[in-house]
Amino acid sequence: MYDIVVIGGGLLGASVARDAAGRGLSVCLFEQEDFGAGATSRGSRLVTGGLNALQTLDFTRVREDIREREILRRVAPHLVHSQSCLIPFYSQGVLAQARLRAGLALTDALGFDPSLPMHPLLPVHQLLSPSEARTRAPRLRAEGLAGAALVWEAVVPRIERLALELALDARRQGASLRTHTRVETLCWESAGRGRERAVGVRWTDRLTGESGRTDAHLVVASVGAWQFELEAPPGNQPRLSKSVSIIGPPLPGREDILVFPREEEGRLLVVMPWPQGSWIGSIETDFTGNLDTAHATGEEVAALVRLVRDFLPTVAWDDPAGAQAAVRLPLPPHAASFGVAPPTYDIRDHAANGGAQDGLVTVSGGRVTNVRAIAEEAVDLACRKLGRALSTPPCRTASQPLPTLAVPAVGAQVPDDPALRVAVEWAVAEEECRTVRDFLQRRTPLAWTADGGRSAIPVILETMAGLLGWDGDRRVREVKAYEADLALRQAFRVL
Ligand SMILES: Cc1cc2nc3c(=O)[nH]c(=O)nc-3n(C[C@H](O)[C@H](O)[C@H](O)COP(=O)(O)OP(=O)(O)OC[C@H]3O[C@@H](n4cnc5c(N)ncnc54)[C@H](O)[C@@H]3O)c2cc1C
Repeated sequence: MYDIVVIGGGLLGASVARDAAGRGLSVCLFEQEDFGAGATSRGSRLVTGGLNALQTLDFTRVREDIREREILRRVAPHLVHSQSCLIPFYSQGVLAQARLRAGLALTDALGFDPSLPMHPLLPVHQLLSPSEARTRAPRLRAEGLAGAALVWEAVVPRIERLALELALDARRQGASLRTHTRVETLCWESAGRGRERAVGVRWTDRLTGESGRTDAHLVVASVGAWQFELEAPPGNQPRLSKSVSIIGPPLPGREDILVFPREEEGRLLVVMPWPQGSWIGSIETDFTGNLDTAHATGEEVAALVRLVRDFLPTVAWDDPAGAQAAVRLPLPPHAASFGVAPPTYDIRDHAANGGAQDGLVTVSGGRVTNVRAIAEEAVDLACRKLGRALSTPPCRTASQPLPTLAVPAVGAQVPDDPALRVAVEWAVAEEECRTVRDFLQRRTPLAWTADGGRSAIPVILETMAGLLGWDGDRRVREVKAYEADLALRQAFRVL
């Protein structure tokens, strides 16, 4: 019997598991695929603090985001780096310009707030002339360019590793981890007077077919877009939102992230350096269908290309190397405002306000920047529900460093065979790597090499088969599953 079962090993669930384990609670974390395989690994990887001030001038929100960005830079410096962002502005209305300048000034002012220790201090913003902007980003549309702001933020280029390492640190602190293990249903018992209490979960290991039940005093579900599958009757899919991003050609110039505020939608268009290319995201559409095979369509890719071409007209956007789709519960658009911004996340105690289901907390939404704080709030609630608020130590994740692991280095090139074998052995022994997809997509950046990592597959297969006892059938299934992933990235060409 565990204190807490956490369902979902995205950034949010892994953060909850780590926080809870660090406070001495017994935790079991279930992930139906691999850590970070959901929406976590399909977004922009930006840790936005001050940039949020371009969308809302909610002082408290921006201050919180900057605080969380700095915590991430401090506790995980091997994964979270400072990053220059160039925000070009084209002939805009007076109001938009005033908002931009106020947002930048607010961000700089907060940088000097002594209660927000910077790690280390990021440079204040600079305003650039049109020609200075085009020196940094030569492909920017010159027509109508009124200048640019250069601001500093943070980025997590290997965000799937952040989710993985949070989960591994939960394990180091006593948590049990189960990947490729889908929670099929929650187990309930009567709590009297028409009420019921979650007492555990039933699960199936999708690789071995093994199934079982795990009991817990409390279930915390952080399953992102899959939330309705646990809660609603089959076939009852709520409105979901799909974000589409593409991998385009590399841009000449400095390695800045280009950020284009999109006034109409209240969202940002982001163009960021990517291994052998650039990541461009994103546009949002409604989603219905199978979450496991969500992909970008040709129409969506064309719409995104039109959008980015407007700002970078001379780049060859016609043949993106790939496209990705992430599905999530729709967030309220960050309509540009001067007021208090709507919340970006939801922590729901199903027993609160007369609810009939006890023992279940769902956590959803949020951004990379604030997942740690959301997890802290969720675990505070969990401690209260377990009657352990006074006996558990306080949250330590704001100061406790994420250990740097001695991971064998694999860059964006396929290494020679012996080095690759060492990396596979490490991933299997130390990092819960159970499939070829896990290794290529989330233990190393090899999935983003020019051949999608295919040339590494024979050595990976042979090494994993030796370590995990795979037979011929399993080897075939592994290759098929990886090819199916690569095909989803290319599906926009035919759909
Ligand atoms: C396109 C896009 C762009 C984004 N850009 C930014 C950004 O620029 N800055 C920012 O700060 N944030 C951004 N975000 C938000 C950020 O990525 C997420 O908030 C963050 O990664 C947390 O994700 P999550 O853990 O809630 O969800 P997910 O990563 O989707 O995790 C949910 C997990 O639950 C698992 N699961 C589901 N059902 C079950 C089950 N029954 N049993 C076991 N496991 C299950 C899934 O496999 C999945 O891994 C973006 C998100 C998207 C989609």
